[in-house]
Amino acid sequence: MRPRGDMPDAEFVAHGRQAVQWVAEYLGHPERYPVLAQVAPGAVRAALPQTPPRAGEAMEVILRDVDRTIIPGITHWNHPSFFAYFAITGSGPGIIGDLLASALNVNGMLWKTSPAATELEEVVMGWLGQMLGLPDGWFGLIMDTASVASLCAIAAAREAVQDHPFRMEGMAGGPRLRMYASEQANSSIEKAGITLGLGQRGVRKIPVDREFRMDAAALRRAVTEDRAAGWRPFCVVATAGTTSTTSIDPIPAIADVCEAEGMWLHVDAAYAGIAAVAPEFRWVLAGCERADSVVVNPHKWLFTPIDCSAFYCRRPDVLRAAFSLVPEYLWTSEGEQSEVHDLANYGVQLGRRFRALKLWFVIRYFGWEGLAARIREHVRLGQELARWVDADPDFERLAPTPLSTVCFRYHPHRLRDRRGAEEELEGLNAGLLDAVNATGQAYLSHTRLGGKFTLRVAIGNIRTTEAHVRAVWELLRATGNRLPAVER
Ligand SMILES: *Cc1c(COP(=O)(O)O)cnc(C)c1O
Repeated sequence: MRPRGDMPDAEFVAHGRQAVQWVAEYLGHPERYPVLAQVAPGAVRAALPQTPPRAGEAMEVILRDVDRTIIPGITHWNHPSFFAYFAITGSGPGIIGDLLASALNVNGMLWKTSPAATELEEVVMGWLGQMLGLPDGWFGLIMDTASVASLCAIAAAREAVQDHPFRMEGMAGGPRLRMYASEQANSSIEKAGITLGLGQRGVRKIPVDREFRMDAAALRRAVTEDRAAGWRPFCVVATAGTTSTTSIDPIPAIADVCEAEGMWLHVDAAYAGIAAVAPEFRWVLAGCERADSVVVNPHKWLFTPIDCSAFYCRRPDVLRAAFSLVPEYLWTSEGEQSEVHDLANYGVQLGRRFRALKLWFVIRYFGWEGLAARIREHVRLGQELARWVDADPDFERLAPTPLSTVCFRYHPHRLRDRRGAEEELEGLNAGLLDAVNATGQAYLSHTRLGGKFTLRVAIGNIRTTEAHVRAVWELLRATGNRLPAVER
């Protein structure tokens, strides 16, 4: 049929139009779909052929199968009533930017392999840094995820340790390294420790205060204790916006400890750091100017399609020392020039997608003020929901709500002051979560705080309005009332 060559132009135009039309309808009416996929495990797999097609198939057939087979198994992260984990958005301009990036399909590993990819990335990272209030002159590049950015930060921190040539010798024969993060730090930090050969024991978890923020005095004590026991403390990961509650570690106090002890300070601000785009929330990143590296995720709260993680480093020379390798086949004369950055030398991956394009589209289309206004509205909605929770005798809030993520549980007043109610509350809240998610009208997830099963409503999708937040709140209350009372 088509022995060689790509899809013919006319066909691309026809199906491209169809696909864009599909996307527009999808984004226009996401409530047609249950937020949480209601399929059983294995159902999607079973509906698909187990062998590849021998001959090419018509686009009509492929697109039809998207609707029939794939969509029922999609959990709709782009739905305005998605409140689980952290709500995210693939916005119109971001989707268009991503489409063009796929069309250009450049690999921005070196400056020369696509100068505009590297230089746009530098410019966009500079813009974002200004919007966040980060110091001028920091080096920034885009990575796929915060997990990988933090991994690179910790690798740079290890490179900065003077006592042992880790890059050449590996961990063997060197001092036993230890890094620190709070009990509430994201799991990606411990995973980075595993990946880098620190071992889980090489990652010490520091207790938090009643508001789930790292206890800086406990950090200082832990470092002293570890030094005495022969460890080499080398890195602290502070979190600005923890994944459970969006609590913000006391970064200035942590920076004091890092400076006194000669440790690298990395700030994981994957979600909440984006709030600093609105000037009144700059306090979220206070102290970051003293950090060695910071990560924020535009793919979380800056309306940019996943994946796009912005990694800033004050000491790019160290990052480069950790990762740069230039075999003959990657050498270019331009790469020798000081104003040229071959970005593959600053991280794990060689091949690099043109992620800057979608972020550039998002920032230009909405503008700094437009982005700030949307974030501000999400925080307003979060504060509103927190007030509703506090005012309801059958619910209780389980953490402060600094931004737009609300942590609470159902605690019917009939169970107040009843001893031994904890176990029943656990079952009630797990049941409430499942029942709400099974409606398909909204999707929320949970965490555990102080041993308590905690419901989370995270507001962050660009299409979420007060009506959606009110609806999930009414759904929670109505469902709670209908739950069978466990009489004892
Ligand atoms: C979401 C999150 C991460 C992980 O982000 P990825 O980009 O998915 O790796 C890390 N840290 C915090 C605080 C997060 O909220």
